[in-house]
Amino acid sequence: MAKRGFVIHHNGPKANCLGQPHTRCVAFWNAVKNYHVRSRGWSDIAYSFGVCPHGVRFTGRGWHKNQFANGTDVVGEYDGKDSEWYSVLVFLGEDEKPTPEMVEGVKALIRDGRSLGLCGMRVLPHNAFKRKACPGPEFTAYARQWDNAPLDAPQDTPIYTDTEDDTTVVIGNNFNHWRLWFTPQGAFAAGMPAGVPLAKPSVVLNRTQWDALVKRLESNKALTRL
Ligand SMILES: [Zn+2]
Ligand SMILES: [Zn+2]
Repeated sequence: MAKRGFVIHHNGPKANCLGQPHTRCVAFWNAVKNYHVRSRGWSDIAYSFGVCPHGVRFTGRGWHKNQFANGTDVVGEYDGKDSEWYSVLVFLGEDEKPTPEMVEGVKALIRDGRSLGLCGMRVLPHNAFKRKACPGPEFTAYARQWDNAPLDAPQDTPIYTDTEDDTTVVIGNNFNHWRLWFTPQGAFAAGMPAGVPLAKPSVVLNRTQWDALVKRLESNKALTRL
């Protein structure tokens, strides 16, 4: 059954990813995951997704498993169970402000859920469930703005990338995804010649860069297309 929409969370304490290389974001996500799995004993990180200050999307429980981050709903009218929502963790904490790339990354994620028919139009801040500051004033305002509203892509939207681990990134728009491997020599798709114009951590592309990359990828028959 389709979810109702997204609940946005932040980290509480500072995430310390702002202005840092993307490797720091990967380490942060893994630390949150380790905490949830090793210390709390949960089967996976509680969130469906994460989005870092570079606009890169991280997959936790993803589209097809139930997330576990909202907790008991004690604020206002009842908004439903964890299983009715996707959750997204923005890599921010107290007094940390979102980057434009992060805001666009979260919008792209929500748009994808909607356009894939996996969720409805709702967007709530975590503080609609719990008496807490999460996800901070900026994303609380964005959630209110995006709730039940269309999210058109801006002209020059960053295209999300989906980091699975340190070395593999899935990059794409809504319906086209390619798996890229990052190596010290650069980024490669399967069978792809050297010289792909991507280098970790420059994994957020604008529309023009994306179109150019797609052209190169499509001309390569050995490409792994997901
Ligand atoms: Zn939260
Ligand atoms: Zn990042």
